[in-house]
Amino acid sequence: TPLDKIRNFSIIAHIDHGKSTLADRLIQTTGGLTAREMSAQVLDNMDIEKERGITIKAQTVRLEWKGYELNLMDTPGHVDFAYEVSRSLAACEGALLVVDAAQGVEAQTLANVYQSIEHDHEIVPVINKIDLPAAEPEMVRKEIEEVIGLDASRAVMTSAKSGIGIEEVLDAIVERIPPPKGDREAPLKAMLVDSWYDPYLGVVILIRVIDGVLRKGQEIQFMAAGTKHLVDRVGCMRPKMEILPELAAGEIGFITAQIKEVAQTRVGDTITDSKRPALEALPGFKEVQPVVFCGLFPVDANDFEKLRESISKLRLNDASFSFETESSAALGFGFRCGFLGLLHLEIIQERLTREYDLDLITTAPSVIYEIHMNHGAATIELHNPADMPDASRIDFIEEPWIEAVIYVPDEYLGSILKLCQDRRGIQKNLTYVGGRAQVTYELPLNEVVFDFYDRLKSISRGYASFDYHQIGHREGDLVKMNIMVNAEPVDALSMIVHRGTAEARGRGMCERLKDLIPRHLFKIPIQAAIGGKVIARETIAAMRKDVTAKCYGGDISRKKKLLDKQKEGKKRMREYGSVSIPQEAFIAALRMG
Ligand code: GDP
Ligand code: MG
Repeated sequence: TPLDKIRNFSIIAHIDHGKSTLADRLIQTTGGLTAREMSAQVLDNMDIEKERGITIKAQTVRLEWKGYELNLMDTPGHVDFAYEVSRSLAACEGALLVVDAAQGVEAQTLANVYQSIEHDHEIVPVINKIDLPAAEPEMVRKEIEEVIGLDASRAVMTSAKSGIGIEEVLDAIVERIPPPKGDREAPLKAMLVDSWYDPYLGVVILIRVIDGVLRKGQEIQFMAAGTKHLVDRVGCMRPKMEILPELAAGEIGFITAQIKEVAQTRVGDTITDSKRPALEALPGFKEVQPVVFCGLFPVDANDFEKLRESISKLRLNDASFSFETESSAALGFGFRCGFLGLLHLEIIQERLTREYDLDLITTAPSVIYEIHMNHGAATIELHNPADMPDASRIDFIEEPWIEAVIYVPDEYLGSILKLCQDRRGIQKNLTYVGGRAQVTYELPLNEVVFDFYDRLKSISRGYASFDYHQIGHREGDLVKMNIMVNAEPVDALSMIVHRGTAEARGRGMCERLKDLIPRHLFKIPIQAAIGGKVIARETIAAMRKDVTAKCYGGDISRKKKLLDKQKEGKKRMREYGSVSIPQEAFIAALRMG
């Protein structure tokens, strides 16, 4: 396709403002799929993505409209996948900015719009859900102009749900978004936008061709990875895969090259022709690194091999999480895994539980600490609280910090500020835009990885939005807190905490464990300790001898039911010395009060 007939765009929106619904409508209207084929939301294809309403893998679909080739790039929708988002945006020249006509501009809208502007995108505002009784399109139009500073006089009014304004959106894409620049005759240069594993095709690579042409049979080279591969398929999605004779400068599509693992393909890498290579790689390549680590252990020690197989399978399709075997005195064999963020962790954990039917214990998530040792010994990157060296050998510890932008309706501002303050936040900025506050905080990542996001949402009844990026390491007064149940340390629950918040955290943890661990025949002390010093303590009282004593009378079946229930309970417990701790307790105890 000639450059002037191509348009590459993405859709940016706050969650639930209608991005997926609009994308589906665009596909339907341009004839990509019949109404019958339009199962709900074509672009989000993993179950978890559908349930959570977020995109994890970038997807693309090619649309044909009035003789133009429109490539719609669906970007991941969560802060954990920020780098993937930046590469998807770099593959486009413009974006549709979808704003809910009843909700108006939200934090995620802002964060995404600024990113889009940084990529020099032409932005087409789309005011969606105009069918809603609560819709106030004119107010939202003003808000877009005042809050974001975009000209919204030509905003397209849509109802993606009822199909209003869809053709106008397509026309606006053609008219307002500039065609890509590029040189078909120059040496091949294509950006690797994303990749995924397909059981039949092997690794499928989503690319944006910048210069040159890609064809079947060509030998390509990945410039950052330094590897060479033979292209065996070139095509696009409509949204079904379609084989094409070539992908040329300006186009977005996929290739396969008999690659077996996604780990060999790095998002942001430059693909060139090995016989006629480009002189230099595309800018912006970055190796993504996991930032949050935790241990995953099978509840049943016999499941260890099954867990290894399942993790390896998931890893085939997700190079951004890492794992290595870990052994714990109490939990036995498991894996230390690294993730891009907490959501990423939850997704992997959920898939292991759901798709591979594994019962897992997740240990306290931890960030990477830099431990500077005494006497100039080498600095240690600590991923696991269990490996914390003795305090006497440590000079100082540094922890990662983030800058967070929170956007919240005025009425919840007070509680949000308190939350940030409690998490050692440093307020940097506070402004008001259209009845809403925008607060910028610097926060230690360690205070955010636990349940910050959940708390933020619950405090604000779901209205607050949150976006963050890392801003480097800073020294902190950090210590390792151990939790002891019946005088035995439970390593899965030990964590690195700030000295100033240690006592409160320890107390909260002991209180929650007291409720989570069932009574035993003996008294169980629960303690939080730093070094040898106990900072918090609770006791679980002993149980009366016979549970079934409660079922007085001769109701045998009721007695049996109770015993069965106990048995079932037992299966999901972990023995710590003589104490059984239910599986749920491990995760629940980590949620801060
Ligand atoms: P996304 O999170 O931005 O992808 O949003 P979705 O496309 O999943 O839409 C979120 C919800 O809003 C879904 O329940 C949609 O059915 C609904 N929705 C999307 N567009 C419209 C619209 O134009 N009008 C109305 N009333 N609802 C819509
Ligand atoms: Mg969606």
